Amino acid sequence: LPSAKASTHFLHPSLQAKMSRQLQARRLEGTEKNIWVEFVKLAATYSKVNLGQGFPDFPPPDFLKEAFVRALGGENHMLHQYTRAFGHPPLVKILAQFFEKLLGRDLDPMTNVMVTVGAYQALFCCFQAFVEEGDEVIIIEPFFDCYEPMVKMAGGTPVFVPLRLKDPKDGKLMSSAVWQLDPTELASKFSDRTKAIVLNSPNNPLGKVFSRAELELIATLCVKHDVLCISDEVYEWLVFDGKEHTRIASLQGMWDRTVTIGSAGKTFSVTGWKVGWTVGPNRLLQHLRTVHQNSVYHCATAAQEAVAQGFQRELELYGTPDSYFIQLPKELQQKRDQMVQSLDAVGMKPIIPEGTYFLVADISEFKSDVPDAPDSDEPYDSRFAKWMVKNKGLAAIPLSAFYCGAHKNNYNHFIRFCFAKEDSTLKAANDILQKWKRERTGP
Ligand code: PMP
Repeated sequence: LPSAKASTHFLHPSLQAKMSRQLQARRLEGTEKNIWVEFVKLAATYSKVNLGQGFPDFPPPDFLKEAFVRALGGENHMLHQYTRAFGHPPLVKILAQFFEKLLGRDLDPMTNVMVTVGAYQALFCCFQAFVEEGDEVIIIEPFFDCYEPMVKMAGGTPVFVPLRLKDPKDGKLMSSAVWQLDPTELASKFSDRTKAIVLNSPNNPLGKVFSRAELELIATLCVKHDVLCISDEVYEWLVFDGKEHTRIASLQGMWDRTVTIGSAGKTFSVTGWKVGWTVGPNRLLQHLRTVHQNSVYHCATAAQEAVAQGFQRELELYGTPDSYFIQLPKELQQKRDQMVQSLDAVGMKPIIPEGTYFLVADISEFKSDVPDAPDSDEPYDSRFAKWMVKNKGLAAIPLSAFYCGAHKNNYNHFIRFCFAKEDSTLKAANDILQKWKRERTGP
């Protein structure tokens, strides 16, 4: 057969000209760049220790792996086939039971819960279902990067409101609670064009866990302006120092206007399984089901079965020391403290996260190693993170990646580390940092 390339030779010129029309839909414009594509590639090429992308390098719990193996190898061969489009019945049932407890209300598994391909697809369904041309969506900065392109792709306009670093105390280590919303500034972003606000607590990248008072402020504004809340709570179990995660859907007036999003990837340390969910009132979820049935339609059955069994176990052990939801944050808190110590010891000042498995650290003291380039469009932290992975083999993500284009230089001297890693990985990171310090300051 002639090759495809060769065959174009015989096309009439007018047909060839047609091929030059714009291919991509206009809604894709401005959403082409993706920080993960760039930094994952850099980490794969150069890193000896990868504390960049957010995933554990330790194994998931045995009970969950065994549940997956049972789902694949057991007698029920129907687990290899399609299941219910909006969620495998055992999974939506156990999620409803679990969230009834957490939200203090009755839930119907068939209408108040929907399973998605990770939290990512849950977010996509929300924006597609609720955002129309001209709608504004408030996004709190810094934010998980996909919110902005997803809002834009749905035809909406993102409106950004920053968490501001309040009262930095020179010399002392700070908690992520120092990142705060200015109530007046937040209120000024709400208008009759506002359709929704995206909340992410515990927050990636800062590790901030929003206090009840902060959530009440957001809730009051949502109710006052009749605004929806898309609440990304994928790190709901990863909260440290006895702090409590408050679910905004449990606050007065919020159930009816909130979609709560979760992820088995983060909950059970299985990011590759891509099982996520949404919980909310039927009046909202019915529209998510429309997007879901018209896009992916269905999520992998065996993975849903295994996650259902994981939740079954957790429901039985709820609040006990054997619960994974107790053990994982306990282990991560130790890893956090190890990481905080390593960074503090070399002068890369960490801001201690209250939750998640991320922390951000101040790189100002390292400026002599990677001098500023005033003419560069690229934020300083981004150039620093690239330099660090190429020259030191340590991968992290620049904080500016979590800001919109116009605000990328607002906080450009922090990088984000993921500490959901084996102790040996954290030690290897510590060795790199120590060696670097010796090279900078002498023995
Ligand atoms: N939201 C946040 C805040 C996240 O950090 C992530 C994953 N890094 C997601 C959503 C996506 O989760 P999933 O892997 O379940 O799609």
